[in-house]
Parts: sequence; C-alpha cells; structure tokens
Amino acid sequence: MSVPSPQQDIWRAFTVKLRDSIPRESYHTWFGPMKLISLEDFELTVQVPSQFYYDWIEEHYSPQIDSALEDTFGGGYKLSYSILEKETRELLKLGPSKSPYLVPRKAPSESHLNSRYTFKNFIEGECNSFAKAASLAVSEAPGKTRFNPLVIYGGVGLGKTHLVQAIGNFALQNKTARKAVYVSSEKFTTDFINAVKQNKITDFSNVYRNTDLLMVDDVQFFKGKERTQMEFFHTFNALYQAGKQVVLSLDRPPSELTEIESRLQSRFQWGLVTDIQPPDFETRVAILQKRAEDDSLILDPNVIEYLAANITSNVRELEGALIRLMAHASITGQDVDIVLTKRLLKDLVKTRPVIVSVEQIQNAVAEWSNLPADLIRGNSRKREIARARQIAMYLCSELTDLTLKSIGSHFGNRDHSTVIHAIDVAKKNIIGNETLRKQTGDIKRTLELVSQ
Ligand code: ADP
Ligand code: MG
Repeated sequence: MSVPSPQQDIWRAFTVKLRDSIPRESYHTWFGPMKLISLEDFELTVQVPSQFYYDWIEEHYSPQIDSALEDTFGGGYKLSYSILEKETRELLKLGPSKSPYLVPRKAPSESHLNSRYTFKNFIEGECNSFAKAASLAVSEAPGKTRFNPLVIYGGVGLGKTHLVQAIGNFALQNKTARKAVYVSSEKFTTDFINAVKQNKITDFSNVYRNTDLLMVDDVQFFKGKERTQMEFFHTFNALYQAGKQVVLSLDRPPSELTEIESRLQSRFQWGLVTDIQPPDFETRVAILQKRAEDDSLILDPNVIEYLAANITSNVRELEGALIRLMAHASITGQDVDIVLTKRLLKDLVKTRPVIVSVEQIQNAVAEWSNLPADLIRGNSRKREIARARQIAMYLCSELTDLTLKSIGSHFGNRDHSTVIHAIDVAKKNIIGNETLRKQTGDIKRTLELVSQ
C-alpha cells in the first residue's frame, strides 16, 4: 500500500521527533521496521512486524510516542497499529498471531499497573516460590493477612516488579481491592517534589493514601532523600492504620539499607520480608518455554537449552537474549537456529567456576537414583544406569568448569563426543520432563549447599 507524499512528509516529521527521544540503536531495532500505511481522520495507522513488536513498543516507548504526536500535530491525533498478516508471519517463522489485525494503542491505567504482569505468567521455581505464595496470599486478602507490609527483595531482573504488579492486577481483577496504586520510588519522589512546588500536597495524599493497596517499587531509591522518606513514612502509617495493604520491593536485604531511616526499616519487620533468588537451569527453561508460548514463537529446543545453560544471572538478561533473537528473526526473516544464536549472543555468554567435585555429583546422583555410584561411573549400558550417568555428566558440566574430556575421564574414560552426547540427552530429557526437571533441580541445590 503506498501513501501519498504529503502524508509521508507528516510521517517523516513525526519520526524525526521520535528519533530525537530514543537511543539510535533502539530506534533502529524497534521503529526501523515500522511503516505508515494510512493517515485518515486524525488517525495514523502504522504497520509493525508482529504482536511482539507492538507490545514492546507500547510498553517501552509510549511516552515518547505521545510527545512526538503532540509535538508534530499539536494534539488530537491517534496512532493505531496494524500487525503483519499471518502469511508474512509464517514466512518469518513467527508462528500464528493471536491478536486481531488492527490493534489500538493501550490506554494508561489509573493504577499504573501493566497488565502483562500476572501470577499466571510468573514461573515458579525454588528461587521464588515463597515470595510468590506470600504475594498470592496478600492479593487474595489485601490488608487482612499478617504480611503487611509485604517486602520483596532480590537482585536486578529477578522478577520483583513482576510479582509486585501481579499482586495489584490480581487484586483489581478479583475485586479484593477496590483501588490499587503502583508506583516506583522515583515517581513517588518526583510526584512529591512537584506537589510541594505547586502547593498540591492534598492531591498527592489523595492519590497515595486513598487506596486499598499501595505498591512501591525499588524503595532503595529513597536513600538520601530525607523529605521524601518522611512523606513515605507518613503515607505508610496512614495506610497501615487504616488496614490497607502496602507492598514494597528493594534490591538488597533491608538490613543493608543503612541510610534509610531505622524507623522505616523497623516497619518492614512488622510484616513479611521475603527474597527472590536467581533461577536455576530448570526454572530458566520453564521461563523461556512460557515466553515462547505466550508470543506464539516456535523455538528450537537446542536454542532454549543454549540460552538456559549459558545465561544464568537473571531473568531480564534471559529475556533480553530472546528479544535479540526475535528482533533479528523478524527483521531478516532468518531462522533462529543454534548457530545464529551462538553468533548473536557471543557477548552474553559467561563461564562458571568450579563449585563441587565430580565425586560429590556421582554420589548425589547415586542416592537419587538408588544405584551404586560405581555403576554410574562404570560401563554398564543398562538403561536406568545410562540415564543416571547422563544426568551426572550433565550436572558435572553445569556445576564444575571441567572440560568435557576431563568429565569423561571420571566416567570410565569416555571420550569427548560421548560426553557431549550424554549431556545432550540429559538436557533434552530435563526439558521434556517436568518431574525430572524438578528432581535434577533438587540434586543441584543439595550439591550447592554441600559445597558452601
Ligand atoms: P526486577 O524488578 O526484579 O528487576 P522484573 O520484575 O522487571 O525484575 O523482571 C525482569 C523480566 O523478567 C520481566 O520481563 C519479568 O516479566 C521477567 N520475569 C522475572 N521473573 C520471572 C518469572 N519467574 N517468570 C516469568 N517471567 C519472569
Ligand atoms: Mg524492578
């Protein structure tokens, strides 16, 4: 479809504005493939390659789009998305799209919650199951459990924001809260400063105190901001006394927040403080599988395995890697296979240190499988023994930095390619079998504990 040139000029003016407010690389990735297909009745319709693009752009660049629209047209203009048709998606191997052809922009909600964050799409693992259970309990009865405040802490990209917002979304959807407000501590700070400047403290209080559920994300940013802390402290007290729920997140244990007033810290202890740990291999696989399923992506199991085995620090990096692959696939139309994956993600992949000994691994697998460790080390080809041996070799590759040859030497002098094959089979079994995934996760955790 071609668009008359005066309209193209308007489009160009709009994209020039947009380009000013977005880093070059990101603009190229996300807005490069975007095309104007019509401009009618104050509505621009643009084409994007997939639902995924639409979601990503709306989630990350909504404010920039709004101001570019405002700057170019002076208000009154709308933007709609047209998502590429099915055939094209198939050509790009993106799988069928679940969305309708034309989608409107998302309206910002009063609660500032992003509907993408739900309990349903939060994958549970040993690393986060307690935090998730507590969050669920709070969202079912905000202000009515002993978990008030609920404080969730953990490193970057481990799912704090996801869980905190899932509480809000669940509570609103199931009407356990009439009103819920989500805010980052930075926004709370700016809102407060603006309210003071404009003499609008009452409006500010109305927003943050007149709610059944207040979620404040990343409270470590209150550090060093005395007046904001004080205001937050008052907000907290008002809500707490009224039996309203407060949910907080922070990126370190509360005890390490030395600069946050001790009275604020002691409030944390009134409720429940719980942490989220980095996900293990099995959880990483489950997260990737769920993401692929949600985005209707068909992912090669080798690619899932490679990502889960190599990107270990946090979920955000894992997602970032997946996004890089998807963006590449939808721009170039290339298939995402293991070769391309390795090439695209070279910079993200790290090596792991030695944690436990081969013998400890063999003994742990022997105990789990009820087979003598000697048999696991030996040459028997009996199915159950071979299976346990594959798992043991896989664990050696995960938990030690031994070379494949060296791993083989601990298992009846098997050669490099036999070890690769064994690890391969083990990983496929783990990916395909939830029980086995849980069990190997358990073995691994036991081993990691032993080695500490
Ligand atoms: P944090 O706030 O701890 O820095 P986020 O909540 O922003 O981390 O999580 C980073 C990304 O990883 C988000 O896109 C989130 O949806 C995703 N994520 C994190 N943990 C999980 C999980 N257990 N299951 C599914 N997705 C997750
Ligand atoms: Mg966060």
